[in-house]
Amino acid sequence: MTATDHPRSWYAATANPHAAYPALRGETDCDVVVVGGGYTGLTAALELARRGYAVVVLEACRVGWGASGRNGGHIATGFNMAMSGIARLVGQADAHRLWDMAEEAKALLQARVDRHAIACDLRWGYFTGALKGRQLDGLARTVEECRDVYGYRSYRMIAGADVAGIVDCAAYVGGMLDAGAGQLHPLNYALGLARAAAEAGARICELSAVQRIEAGERVVAITPAGRVRARYGVIAGNAYVHPLTSNAWALMRSRIMPVGTYMVATQPMDPARARRLIPSGVAVADANFVINYYRLSPDHRMLFGGGVNYSGIDGPGHGRGLRRTMLRFFPDLADLGIDHVWGGHVAITRNRLPQFGRLAGNVYFAQGFSGHGVSLTGLAGTLMAEAIAATAERFDVFARLPHRAFPGGRLLRMPSLVLAMAWFRLRDRL
Ligand SMILES: Cc1cc2nc3c(=O)[nH]c(=O)nc-3n(C[C@H](O)[C@H](O)[C@H](O)COP(=O)(O)OP(=O)(O)OC[C@H]3O[C@@H](n4cnc5c(N)ncnc54)[C@H](O)[C@@H]3O)c2cc1C
Repeated sequence: MTATDHPRSWYAATANPHAAYPALRGETDCDVVVVGGGYTGLTAALELARRGYAVVVLEACRVGWGASGRNGGHIATGFNMAMSGIARLVGQADAHRLWDMAEEAKALLQARVDRHAIACDLRWGYFTGALKGRQLDGLARTVEECRDVYGYRSYRMIAGADVAGIVDCAAYVGGMLDAGAGQLHPLNYALGLARAAAEAGARICELSAVQRIEAGERVVAITPAGRVRARYGVIAGNAYVHPLTSNAWALMRSRIMPVGTYMVATQPMDPARARRLIPSGVAVADANFVINYYRLSPDHRMLFGGGVNYSGIDGPGHGRGLRRTMLRFFPDLADLGIDHVWGGHVAITRNRLPQFGRLAGNVYFAQGFSGHGVSLTGLAGTLMAEAIAATAERFDVFARLPHRAFPGGRLLRMPSLVLAMAWFRLRDRL
């Protein structure tokens, strides 16, 4: 195994058969060059290729090697900030637009899985467990606000006595069930998106780390063995973005913090035991600020994630610590060994809202999904594709009309215009 292979995890061990995409060699021209083969880059590539653009995706390692291939697989509703906070930040009208687009993100995910027949165990239902009364009150306010202000009716409060029907965990005093959020196999979703993008005509190049991006009328992305020239660029490296040796990259990078988070997969359980543990089969997270998140795999393992690490140094200790946390929630799992331990980096922004932006006019980026990337990345890819298409198909048609300077410089420009007009008037008379 090399550093560019998918890191060891339960996901890598259960990945669907998938293609290896050849590395970039030599020079090539295209409409859009995409840096990064995670959900953000792949959905942008898919949407652009479906619109008929020539797209090249450059991925440093393998498709889904970054956070997209190793995350918790939880599909969350909304953002990592309460809607009341978002409304205070941007006003009620924009908060509404953002809510609607976050809902659209989940619908897009479902539609892509259906349209491209992506086998990724997509299931809906999500429980947020309150560990104390204060958290329960906060969840009740969320249910009320999202129903009354945004018309969201998929949340339902669950009383303490009814929690056992959802998850057999004594730690919760109640919680919130969300029929509109869910779970999937993250790596298989990424591999499916890559296949869909390739089938739509995108050229995907693995083992093709972009070392430099040159901005300009043509964006140039340079890898060790080749270079791509394109009218537009998309940077989709998120927490894993490798240095692109440009000032714009430094600016992007200063807006996100990569934070380590970890997962373990237990040995498989007897199916009946797994059903007793989470009878509803939904994905579960607690309502803490630093959340623990877990769900059952189709082969009846507990996939348990949590913990954060700001040091950037990963170690086996994180797996042991996570197992201890899991046993606090589920002491009965003490007899089960841990088969897989892995971790990765989440990119968080200071306000926990994603950052979408543009560098140098024709280079777009989206990053900092702050733990809500499984759904929001697909929206980011779509919006970048829409922005590029609107620019390319409408604005740039005008922008390409050739315009030459009036002759004569600043001083003689007016006299020469007057002369020219006089000549045209004379010609009209004749
Ligand atoms: C352990 C873990 C658990 C998580 N759990 C959840 C969860 O349950 N729910 C949720 O919504 N989110 C979760 N997240 C976050 C989520 O996975 C991310 O928000 C999402 O995957 C980001 O996708 P992306 O495409 O933007 O970035 P990535 O998937 O990280 O892809 C970026 C890719 O760009 C490539 N790249 C970078 N620089 C270059 C370069 N110079 N040249 C070429 N290629 C380059 C990288 O190799 C990488 O493959 C979790 C993350 C982790 C790590």
